[in-house]
Amino acid sequence: MQIPRLTKSIFLDQFIYMQVVGVIIGLAFPHFLVWYGFPESEVLTWEFYLVTQIAGQMVGLLSFLMISMVIRPHLKQLALKMQDIAEGLQEKDFIDYSVKCHEQLCTMEVLSNDEIGVSASAYNQLLAALLSSHENEQVFNKFTKVMSQNLEVETLSEETINLLISATKIEAAAILLYKNGEIVVEATQGIFHPETLTEHTTVLDAINKGKAQRITLPKHIQLDGVLTQFTPTEVFIEPIEFKGTHLGVMVAATGSEMADERTNTTLHLFARSMGLALNNALIHSKFQRLAAYDGLTNVYNRRFGMARLKEDFGRATREQSALSVIMVDIDHFKKINDNYGHLVGDKAIILIASILKKTLRDGDIVVRYGGEEFLMILQGASTKDALDVSERIRHQVQDTIFTEGDQRIDITVSVGVCGFPEVQVPDEVMLIDKADQALYQAKQTGRNKVIAYGTALAA
Ligand code: GH3
Ligand code: MG
Ligand code: MG
Repeated sequence: MQIPRLTKSIFLDQFIYMQVVGVIIGLAFPHFLVWYGFPESEVLTWEFYLVTQIAGQMVGLLSFLMISMVIRPHLKQLALKMQDIAEGLQEKDFIDYSVKCHEQLCTMEVLSNDEIGVSASAYNQLLAALLSSHENEQVFNKFTKVMSQNLEVETLSEETINLLISATKIEAAAILLYKNGEIVVEATQGIFHPETLTEHTTVLDAINKGKAQRITLPKHIQLDGVLTQFTPTEVFIEPIEFKGTHLGVMVAATGSEMADERTNTTLHLFARSMGLALNNALIHSKFQRLAAYDGLTNVYNRRFGMARLKEDFGRATREQSALSVIMVDIDHFKKINDNYGHLVGDKAIILIASILKKTLRDGDIVVRYGGEEFLMILQGASTKDALDVSERIRHQVQDTIFTEGDQRIDITVSVGVCGFPEVQVPDEVMLIDKADQALYQAKQTGRNKVIAYGTALAA
């Protein structure tokens, strides 16, 4: 049965009803006494009615006060906490709020097993679910950021591990990837000898079969926490794959605490998303390679070479350091093409490129500048250094036996050199132009020659 509501406050309604009950009791009580045997002349008087009315009202008032004191504080506390959470939710960053919202502050004490106790316990559960879902949201937001902002495989892997360790019960982790047919540790944290993971059969099994595993760790693998060593309680191996291709695995270990629900879901989600992100990163690095390298010779292409030379020239002028360029052109190359065909010509180009690459020091680069023309950029090299390198190249090419079938093809190259700052040029284009002029001079004066700009040219 539902008693009709009178005002906007349930407690005020309760008060009014208690007063009505008081009035009814006050009116009925004298008649009850008459029925019981008291003389009417004594109890059905207005004075007695007044007394019973006052008593009835007092009972109504007291019972209202008791309800207010027993029930109201609990409801009030629940209401205040809920209000607090509601306000927190409206704040711009609930995450900050939820960090402050530790157990004593936000949860309700469950003191009874009636409706109020049930409400308090339900409130606690809702709060825990809310906070956990907000924490998950925060972790996944960060992870999405990591995935979208990192196209390099290494940083992507490192940041994923950092996030995993900071946001879950995981204390040590590694990402192992397939690279050129072997498994390598791409990123690791907290594992002493991560390289041993690549030999472990359970790990290999997980990679090959693409099956997630949850195991106890073999004794020979040691893990370290932030400061101290620990024996892991659980180890997870999650495969990383993209469209059925196994790219690697994520190995993660919990320390003293068992993995909770969030750790499980985060690990699983990270591993699954890593597949896509890694695939993008691998495609990106392939594209980067494609964009910078020449397809035939696998040395840098002209576009990349010119951009690099511009940077190097800028540095050389700023720091007044040496920078030399070498232009190499195969002599009478048209004849090789004409006599043996284009494919043999291509092979000769590949051969020359490989000789040039072998003569390089660290930091120097070879660029396929044109068809059978190469540019070498030598940082910190004087004209004299560049001449020495060029002479070595010229000799090496001359001494290399290039055969096609049973035919021996003699190949020589002509080389033009220009060294900055010995030759003062305003920009890198002029540096190349001068080396080209020296090369032209080498061709003009008999080929299979090395000439530096500003020396034989003046002669
Ligand atoms: P020189 O000694 O004066 O340099 O004579 P050359 O015959 O080498 O003349 P040049 O350097 O002008 O010749 C370039 C030739 O290289 C022309 C072109 O047919 C050929 N060539 C350019 N790119 C390629 C290529 O990718 N493959 C092959 N097989 N030939 C190429
Ligand atoms: Mg040529
Ligand atoms: Mg040429």
